[in-house]
Amino acid sequence: MSRFANKIAVVTGGGRGIGQDIARSLAAEGARVAVVSRSPGSCGAAAEAINADFPGSATAYAVDVADHAAVQDLAKKITQELGPVNILVNNAGVTRDTLLMRMKEEDWDTVLDTNLKGAFNTVKGFMRPMMKAEDPRIINIASVIGLIGNAGQTNYSASKAGLIGFTKAVARELAGRGVTCNAVAPGFITTDMTDELPEAVKEAVLAKIPLGSFGETKDIAAMVGFLASKEARYITGQVLAVDGGMTM
Ligand code: NDP
Repeated sequence: MSRFANKIAVVTGGGRGIGQDIARSLAAEGARVAVVSRSPGSCGAAAEAINADFPGSATAYAVDVADHAAVQDLAKKITQELGPVNILVNNAGVTRDTLLMRMKEEDWDTVLDTNLKGAFNTVKGFMRPMMKAEDPRIINIASVIGLIGNAGQTNYSASKAGLIGFTKAVARELAGRGVTCNAVAPGFITTDMTDELPEAVKEAVLAKIPLGSFGETKDIAAMVGFLASKEARYITGQVLAVDGGMTM
C-alpha cells in the first residue's frame, strides 16, 4: 500500500524546483496533490508533468500566497474539490538579495509577505478541516539562512527565522488536535533560485559544506515525505536541517 494513498496534499511553490519535486514525490506515493504557484503557466505545467507519470494525481491552482483573501478563497475551493487536506507544505519562497544599506522597503516587504505571511495565510485557510483529517501534517520549508544568517539576505533570513518561530508556535497550538508542524531547513539546493548566484558565491558556499556537494531537490522531498508519513507522528515543532552538514 502506498504511503500516501487517500491523502490530500497541498504544495505551495509547486511549480518549480524543490516544490515541484515534493509534489511529484507525494503523488508517486499515492497522494492527490494541489500544485500551487504564482503563475498559472508554472503550476499548470508542473501538474501536467506529474499527471503524465501518475495520472489524475495533480491539480494546478494559481495564487499569490501573500494575498490573504485570495488564499482563504483558494483553501475553500481546494477543500471542496479535493477534500480535507492532510498534508500542507509551505514551500513558496522568494529572495531579493542585497546589502541592508541598499535594501528597499519593497525588497523587505515582498520577501516577508511571501515567505512568512504566505505560511500564515495558508495555515489559516486550511487548519479547520485539517484538524479533522487523518494524520494531519504541516511542513514549512525554511532555510539554513534562518538559522545562521547571511550577509546580503537580511530580509530572507528574517523571513525564514520567523517561519521557524511560527512553526514552533503552530506546533504547540495544534498539538492537542493531533496536527504536527515541523520545518525543514535546506542548505544549498540546486534550483532556479540558486542558479542565479555568481560562481564565486557558489564556490564559497561549497567550501563550507562538509559532505562536499550541493543538495538536490530529491533530498528535500525525501525529508518532507518522512515528516508527512505516519512514522513521523511523534515529531513536532522541530527544524530538520538537510544541508550536507553545513550547520552542524
Ligand atoms: P524556485 O525559485 O525554484 O521556485 C519557487 C516557487 O515558489 C515557484 O513555483 C514560484 O511560483 C513559487 N512562488 C514564489 N512566490 C510566490 C507567491 N507569492 N505565491 C505563490 N507561489 C510563489 O525556489 P526553490 O525551489 O529553490 O525554493 C523553494 C523553497 O525552498 C523556498 O521557500 C526557498 O526559500 C527554500 N530554500 C531553497 C534553497 C535552495 O538552495 N534552493 C535553500 C533553502 C531554502 P512560480 O513558479 O509561479 O513563479
